[in-house]
Amino acid sequence: MHTKILLIYTGGTIGMVKAAHSESLQAFDFQNLLKNIPELKLLNCEIDTISFEVPLDSSNMNPTHWVTLAEIIEKHYDTHHGFVVLHGSDTMSYSASALSFMLENLNKPVIFTGSQLPIGDLRTDAKENLITSIQLASLRQNNAAVIKEVGLYFEYKLYRGNRTTKINADHFEAFASSNFPPLVTSGVQLQVQHDLLQKNFTQNQLKVHKSLDTNVVIIKLFPGIQTSVLSAIFETPNLKGVVLETYGSGNATTESWFLELIKAAISKGIYIVNVTQCSGGMVHMGHYETSKKMRELGIISAKDMTTEAAITKLMYLLGKGTSKNTFKVVFETSIRGELTEN
Ligand code: ASP
Repeated sequence: MHTKILLIYTGGTIGMVKAAHSESLQAFDFQNLLKNIPELKLLNCEIDTISFEVPLDSSNMNPTHWVTLAEIIEKHYDTHHGFVVLHGSDTMSYSASALSFMLENLNKPVIFTGSQLPIGDLRTDAKENLITSIQLASLRQNNAAVIKEVGLYFEYKLYRGNRTTKINADHFEAFASSNFPPLVTSGVQLQVQHDLLQKNFTQNQLKVHKSLDTNVVIIKLFPGIQTSVLSAIFETPNLKGVVLETYGSGNATTESWFLELIKAAISKGIYIVNVTQCSGGMVHMGHYETSKKMRELGIISAKDMTTEAAITKLMYLLGKGTSKNTFKVVFETSIRGELTEN
């Protein structure tokens, strides 16, 4: 059977044009996108396309759209060998992280890509990103997909989706994966790092998790953060999980007001996850005096996860109804390659 790829257009710069008499970019009809890339006909695979009814600038993405996307993949899972998701780059790392958790037992590639310049632009990065993503989604060996996970391809590199962060608004190299090397590098040839790829030996059916709990928040600490601000956040009705962006290897102030607030929040049943503000490296609670107390209070370590992976994992585990007894252990364990266990 011919390799069949489903191309899902959610929106983003890749399919945008300048609106008449204006400098701002707006989404345009997906069919025009394909007309702009006759090269797609040269690929040795069959490409079906599907578009979000209203293409989105990815700043308007939210978990309901992640569910829509997961449902499209679920519906076409048995009829297609791989999936390419065209998505705005702004929130692509959040969506790729979320989908990695939502798609359990994934045995096929789901490759997110987009571009910094619209497809019609003379200097566009869209064509290379799209064409190589389709090639990656079509890679097969011994009658099975080579990539069996959610990836993000941008500017000659395929990363594990839940390891990425958008780091640049101007450069073509817009994404980084500081704590995990690229899975594939595109040069004259595609260099696949087979040893780094997720090995999903499971024969179990794809299981799509559609319930995500958004009673969560991200708090970035800074010197001078006020008690009143933090306590107001912790008083939010129904709040269930907090991603706390701390300093360095997971450190924070040891002032008593701060530790008291954390203690009270944890005793109310709110999960607090410690993520570093650094773009690379790992949380090591107890390494410094300034993190020892947090460990004793029962804060969860995100280890070397990105903020994007941590917040979406929180939504996923809360949505799944993970029990209180196992929540910390499950969070600190790699379930989709999103963290380094040590
Ligand atoms: N604002 C756009 C978006 O995220 C930027 C892009 O597509 O790269 O949808």
